Amino acid sequence: MTETWLDPTAVAADDPFGIATLPYGVVLDSDRQPQPAVRIGQLALLLRPAVAALLPEHADLFAGGNLDAFLAAGPASWLDVRAAVTAWLTDEAYREQVEPLLVPLAGLEAVLPFTVADYVDFYASEHHALNASRVLRPDNATLLPNWKHLPVGYHGRAGTVVVSGTGVRRPHGQRRAGDGVEFGPSVRLDFEAEVGFVVGAGSPHGSRVPVGEFPRHVFGLVLLNDWSARDIQAWEYVPLGPFLGKSFATSISAWITPLAALESARVPAVPRDPAPLPYLDDTGDSWNLDLELEVRLNGELISRPPFATMYWTGAQMMAHLTVNGASLRPGDLYGSGTVSGPADDQLGSLLELSRGGSRPFRLSDGTEHAYLDDGDEVVMTATAPGPDGSRVGIAEVRGRILAADTPAD
Ligand code: MN
Repeated sequence: MTETWLDPTAVAADDPFGIATLPYGVVLDSDRQPQPAVRIGQLALLLRPAVAALLPEHADLFAGGNLDAFLAAGPASWLDVRAAVTAWLTDEAYREQVEPLLVPLAGLEAVLPFTVADYVDFYASEHHALNASRVLRPDNATLLPNWKHLPVGYHGRAGTVVVSGTGVRRPHGQRRAGDGVEFGPSVRLDFEAEVGFVVGAGSPHGSRVPVGEFPRHVFGLVLLNDWSARDIQAWEYVPLGPFLGKSFATSISAWITPLAALESARVPAVPRDPAPLPYLDDTGDSWNLDLELEVRLNGELISRPPFATMYWTGAQMMAHLTVNGASLRPGDLYGSGTVSGPADDQLGSLLELSRGGSRPFRLSDGTEHAYLDDGDEVVMTATAPGPDGSRVGIAEVRGRILAADTPAD
């Protein structure tokens, strides 16, 4: 692994946010002004002054209070900046200029790093889709006929995507009650452990983006918690899909790990049968990412979903998203769908972990859990193989459930 001149107490050798990762985010400075930054270990490098001094041809990309201009600039600029930041943090020659621009992460507030354009969520894990069908359609627990022909998705709500650490208020809504309907705070509040793809470079309206163009458009990855009110969702979702049961909040990591940091994490994609249509065919360039997710509830590890088991890849989701001529825009965000593996300790939602609430489980503190209670905190993390045996991280996404704000009426 590449050595740096940085203090090893700030960047330990086994830190998944070492020199091979370098994710981008936005932190509030001492005047509470948003500052684009790169994370290195337990430090943040403030990009605006660093780029202005050391890479002035790209200074305009970080002049704003978010990463929007940088995301839109495209892959050549992404590589330029990444190469420069890597040099600044490794080559002693830069130490004098760069060291004063490193700020300890502790005590820094990170904010949503980019303006979310469109938000779409897919459903790309075969294990999750089958598990969900067993709970939701026990009499007919199979994949629906379209599932192996296209990555199923729905449009979510971009305006309620929130940064890691934001509290999530228990939503109100309608649910079925016997033969009637009742209204109140959700009683089946759930999480979904997902990977989110952040689009940088857009595409023209009316054109398709082929699967092989994925790295030219997708800048990087975040973890995504697609909070889901199962009672609201179950009543509303037929026939047009999820709506208010999910649109109250979607949490993402504060730091975007660039795709460029995940070259060593590439693994063959799972075989697909039947062969997908030509626009989804990735033969010859078929790869997924070996991300190992971990989900903690109130501090205790409850699941380790393996992203490499996903049936559809991020590249196929992007190709499907644009096959009708819909454009990509900088800041588009799409979720993979709940990541679940084949084993009982690899499930990415409480719907699966508690079998629809019918099999509550106990944490080591003795508390019993089926769906989320007020005060529960869900934290998702992920790492993947990096160069030379290192691990590359996707920053945590954390959220705590807040009590519903008004009495039911
Ligand atoms: Mn989802």
